[in-house]
Amino acid sequence: MPPTERLYYSDSHLIEFEARVTDKSERVSGWTAVTLDRTAFYPTGGGQPSDTGTLNGARVLECIDAEDEGVLHVVQGRAPEIGASVKGRVDWARRLDHIQQHTGQHILSQAFVSLFNAPTRGFRVMDQSCEIDVELTNPTDEVIERAVELANNVIWEDRQITINIATREEAARLPLRKEPSREGELRLIEIEGFDLTPCGGTHAYRTGEVGLIAVRSWERAKGLTRIEFVAGGRTLADYRRANKTARTVAGFFSAGRDDAAKLTAHMIEENKELHRRIRTLEEVAARVEADELLATISPNPAGIRIVSRIFDGRDAESLKHLAQALISHSNTIALLASREQEAARLVFARSADTRGDMNLLMREACAMIDGRGGGKPDLAQGGGKNIERLEEAMSEAAKTLS
Ligand SMILES: [Zn+2]
Repeated sequence: MPPTERLYYSDSHLIEFEARVTDKSERVSGWTAVTLDRTAFYPTGGGQPSDTGTLNGARVLECIDAEDEGVLHVVQGRAPEIGASVKGRVDWARRLDHIQQHTGQHILSQAFVSLFNAPTRGFRVMDQSCEIDVELTNPTDEVIERAVELANNVIWEDRQITINIATREEAARLPLRKEPSREGELRLIEIEGFDLTPCGGTHAYRTGEVGLIAVRSWERAKGLTRIEFVAGGRTLADYRRANKTARTVAGFFSAGRDDAAKLTAHMIEENKELHRRIRTLEEVAARVEADELLATISPNPAGIRIVSRIFDGRDAESLKHLAQALISHSNTIALLASREQEAARLVFARSADTRGDMNLLMREACAMIDGRGGGKPDLAQGGGKNIERLEEAMSEAAKTLS
């Protein structure tokens, strides 16, 4: 059986065609793979997803390149019979999108070669953007934007793109951007005065059709620079998303879009400053609270004041501040705890002039509430999950001290 004639090789903008069914085979769950004598459908390959469309009205979900077998059209629903004439139709919006991403990649990859002698090692078209892996040794925003600038100039110069067929010997004498990956006759894609590369994909007639290229982000990956970009209609879609994000953020400040980043940075600074002030105020408040607590406690026969308290929903930092404020007074021991919904936290501390091992005391208390804790002889912290036994653990600790 002769291989499928690939109509997209000679015209990337051909979307309606007539063909004859040369083979069909049933696949799982009502899908059928149909082979035609000729097709305008581009099958998955070269980092570019397959076309979709219809064959005599039946849905073509995907096309697979089966090399010698030809192009397999995966059809959902009623597939045409072997020998039948069919009318094929390629989804143009999807094809145009792929033309823009793919041609955009040729242009951007050549821009990195001409400016920085940095070849592209990988290319992927993803759902909303594309990726190229470039051998760029010192990537910065400025370096990458220079390539983007050049690529867009080439687009706006609306250069012609032609397809040339060459033998391997002929191709060997030409300045190709990358080595051909297949044997035999080569299909060379030439962007007038800018780029020449072997490729079997679908390309624009002229560079202007790509519209616009923008880089979304980049990162170092496995010794290469991975660059995420968008071309054509995807650039507009991406601009709309980015604009919406920036305007939403600016809206929180009732400000213009371009002030969003500056105002957010300012707010984060202000927030840090507020946190510092709150910490200072908490220390002051803890000293007042400590004085009030101590006023209600009478010293034990040994002259020690043991402050034992369980709070509700008090964070570790604030608990520690209170403990420190308490033990800044002489002859004082603080046994503090806080009850949360599913856990308890504890801080035990003693002033320098008292005796007692807070670390040991903490370990014993935490063991009772199914938790862990420890620290130094004068200050220990811990927590546990068994809140039911918290009161018991705290009174045990107080008892041990006296
Ligand atoms: Zn190509």
